[in-house]
Amino acid sequence: MMLYRDYGKLGFQVSAFGMGCMRLPRIVSGDTAEVDREKSYEMIRYAVDQGVTYFDTAYGYHNMTSEEVLGEALEGGRREKVRIVTKQPFGVMTDLKTGGGKTVLENARRNLEATLKKLRTSYIDVYLIHNIGVSSWEETKSQKIIEEYEKFRAEGLIRGIGFSYHGKYPCFREVLDFYDWGMCQIQQNLIDVDNEATEEGIRHAGRKGCALVIMEPIRGGNLATPPEPVKAIYDEYPVKRSPVEWAFRHILNYPEVSTVLSGVSTMEQLKEDIEIFSKPDTVPGCLNEEEKTIISRVREKYKSLASVPCTGCEYCLPCPQGVNIPQVFSKYNDGVMFGTFEPARRGYMFQTRFNQDASHCIECKVCETKCPQHIEIAGELKAAHEKLKGWVE
Ligand code: SF4
Ligand code: SF4
Repeated sequence: MMLYRDYGKLGFQVSAFGMGCMRLPRIVSGDTAEVDREKSYEMIRYAVDQGVTYFDTAYGYHNMTSEEVLGEALEGGRREKVRIVTKQPFGVMTDLKTGGGKTVLENARRNLEATLKKLRTSYIDVYLIHNIGVSSWEETKSQKIIEEYEKFRAEGLIRGIGFSYHGKYPCFREVLDFYDWGMCQIQQNLIDVDNEATEEGIRHAGRKGCALVIMEPIRGGNLATPPEPVKAIYDEYPVKRSPVEWAFRHILNYPEVSTVLSGVSTMEQLKEDIEIFSKPDTVPGCLNEEEKTIISRVREKYKSLASVPCTGCEYCLPCPQGVNIPQVFSKYNDGVMFGTFEPARRGYMFQTRFNQDASHCIECKVCETKCPQHIEIAGELKAAHEKLKGWVE
């Protein structure tokens, strides 16, 4: 039976497994792709029938169709059984193409109304400001987005207010302490324990009673298929588990975590995930000392397989051409470490919506004089771009 966890100060419980709707099954044809609606309906309805009560989507997922597919799938009595969480990024509040001369706050309201219509519901259970980072945080504050979300809540259009975060710990801490958020959503997985919001961020959210939702626990699916040297470490342990289960247990071990999102693309993945989250021992504190050691060794082994020794220090930035060098190398290393560039390509495509991709490097090599790792950045960027380009969304 599916396990449930408390959802912080918002006071309800949710399934420990949250279905992420950003990687629904797709039909790819040439250079276009669209959601496979029939397969998606089947998966979403199966999840509800198995006791999954948490569904995560966003204004922009799947070319702005994910919310619509979720809304359609939940028709016929399922919507009332679940919590719907969706998000709006600052970028679409300022979008000049669709803004039609309106203010940021007018656009925010227009986008929420479109979301409600697509989801076929009169309210959102938890509405997030999507993808807060250093620069969007400054704009979020100055444009008074939180105050606008409070108005949405007062009108009954949304019930809880939260944010999703991508960036380093100091800014995460500032955002978290700025407002009485109902929920925050961060990245965490067994490799990146000290990246982004970090373990300290998890502890701090817990201390504040803020519901904590983890995204990318399988690192875009990459941790599901470990290379041989990593697999050998898992195989040493007497209890046999899939790599996916190890990855989920790493997250479920934190008592502060309310729900773990998994962006499933097939019914097989969904069934596997639901089975893991229904095991009676996948509760806070589920890892013993030996299991924690196994996970530490797996982390170190993965890191040793990376191709470019980039530490993410960002001393090479800013690049005059706007290339976010450490982000490109991070995606490139993912492809090499995990033996597949498929998920990394998708991430690279999203990344280049905010920064220039590596093809914009003009080989001035200014960055190389600043790199403490003495990486031949221009050459490595070329190799990375060749491997990472070409994702079709
Ligand atoms: S070499 Fe390329 S990445 Fe480095 S600073 Fe010049 S343009 Fe930017
Ligand atoms: S300076 Fe070197 S190690 Fe640091 S982020 Fe840039 S490429 Fe990576």
